[in-house]
Amino acid sequence: MREYKVVVLGSGGVGKSALTVQFVSGTFVEKYDPTIEDFYRKEIDIDGSPGVLEILDTAGTEQFASMRDLYIKNGQGFLLVYSIVNAQTFIDVQPMRDQISRVKGGTVQPMILIGNKCDMEQERSVNSRDGQMLASEWGCPFFETSAKSNLNVAEAFLEIVRQINKIKQKQKDKSCCILL
Ligand code: GDP
Repeated sequence: MREYKVVVLGSGGVGKSALTVQFVSGTFVEKYDPTIEDFYRKEIDIDGSPGVLEILDTAGTEQFASMRDLYIKNGQGFLLVYSIVNAQTFIDVQPMRDQISRVKGGTVQPMILIGNKCDMEQERSVNSRDGQMLASEWGCPFFETSAKSNLNVAEAFLEIVRQINKIKQKQKDKSCCILL
């Protein structure tokens, strides 16, 4: 079975653990230790093909920032998460994306931009349009999700797998061209 290594990045409190746990076990966690960094595995069916998704839920706290290079190096796809009710977390995703680019030597990486907590519409401080614009600047898909209401959660995780497959296929095609 194919394995897909996905890394969930974003500032503390944006809902990385909640999204991961919702996807893996179908429950919403109100309280989760923010310093816990964990691996999750979930068997998936992606457009008719079986696979295993290995998800690294990063801690997102500064004391672990130096660890990021390491998991970025090992990751094949990245979910960059901010909270739609916290504008600073939207600002924070840019340097994370830059870090991925730097660690991966500037090559195009499978990536999804996620605005989480979209159930909290009344407290929204990041427009959908701004999220969409940033994603199109990055050339990646964009989802607004709610780990609480289980909105778009599986969609985002399955889309990153599709992105990984797509970019892998492109690289294969390229190397075939070079061989020819
Ligand atoms: P992390 O530090 O990024 O892993 O964030 P957590 O997953 O620990 O979530 C931080 C807090 O936000 C917790 O109290 C969660 O219950 C809450 N939370 C996470 N996702 C959502 C969501 O989609 N909607 C709402 N309303 N709360 C959320």
